[in-house]
Amino acid sequence: MKVYLSFDYELYFGAQSGSAGICIIEPTKQLLALAEKHGIYLNFFIDSGYLLALEKYSKRHPSVAYEKQQVYKQLIELSEAGHDCQLHIHPHWEDSYYDGNGWKMNTDRYRLDHFSDVQMQEIITSYFNVTKNISGKAPIAYRAGGWCLPPWDKIQDTFKKLGVWIDSTVYEKGFSEEGQVKFDFRNAPSSDQWMFEKNPVEPDPVGYFLELPISSVRLSPVFFWNLYVKGRLNRSLHKTIGDGTPMAQPGTKKKVLTSYTQQALSCDGYYASLLVSEYNSRTKRNDDTMVVIGHPKAQTVFSLQKLDEFVSTVKGTCTFARYSDLQLN
Ligand SMILES: [Zn+2]
Repeated sequence: MKVYLSFDYELYFGAQSGSAGICIIEPTKQLLALAEKHGIYLNFFIDSGYLLALEKYSKRHPSVAYEKQQVYKQLIELSEAGHDCQLHIHPHWEDSYYDGNGWKMNTDRYRLDHFSDVQMQEIITSYFNVTKNISGKAPIAYRAGGWCLPPWDKIQDTFKKLGVWIDSTVYEKGFSEEGQVKFDFRNAPSSDQWMFEKNPVEPDPVGYFLELPISSVRLSPVFFWNLYVKGRLNRSLHKTIGDGTPMAQPGTKKKVLTSYTQQALSCDGYYASLLVSEYNSRTKRNDDTMVVIGHPKAQTVFSLQKLDEFVSTVKGTCTFARYSDLQLN
């Protein structure tokens, strides 16, 4: 089995973005130390709009110039250490800005399809270029911000031109219509990879693109009661390292506390407690791949312990893979 540990490298997008040092640099350092200890590779999906915003505002604000220097230095280091830097697009950076004190997120246009066809192409191309220029390697894999996949027919030519041929956004049975977040993977195949052409959830054996879906897990309300209660009772263990606030998604908390929900398999916070059992059930099913999503900002003391335990437990029986490994074949 191949296990892809993938991390969306980004700030928070709510009222408080949090600081780069605490949301990104510090927890990523801890993840890199863990990877080095075990001799494994990680995959980072870099919030590329943020990189362009750092470029733009560093000219006017010394504090952003410092932030840019720290972030770029880390990206170069992790890329040189062999970890992947792939493409993650949150187009609301087009409308967000630095006001002298912090980042002001405007998420009115949160999804790529909130923009015109030409703007979508320009966003994808410029975000791709900045990621390539800083990491020194051209991304080949894409993950949509907030799972909000754009209409593929409108962007597939741009991705083909850039050589981006892998999507890793879909998770089986995933669905949301909360605020600006909209995605529907309920028709996605129950498979751990497939080729596609026009739509990431519709397999096409002769398609140009590979979907490497994030592993999906069905969770009971009990899981979330535990998550919330444990978070309150033992804050030092379960408090997220990042110091920002997530974008509001009204209704989500109530939904997960009252009904079974389908979630992307994550190594963030309390979710990391699921890794070993989910790995075991996939091994039993003879799955070929397991894709885990995570965020440096959402790591906790607990999640880093659990991730360390997970890697120790399974590393003799699987490969910790990179998306870029697929390019060689
Ligand atoms: Zn993201």
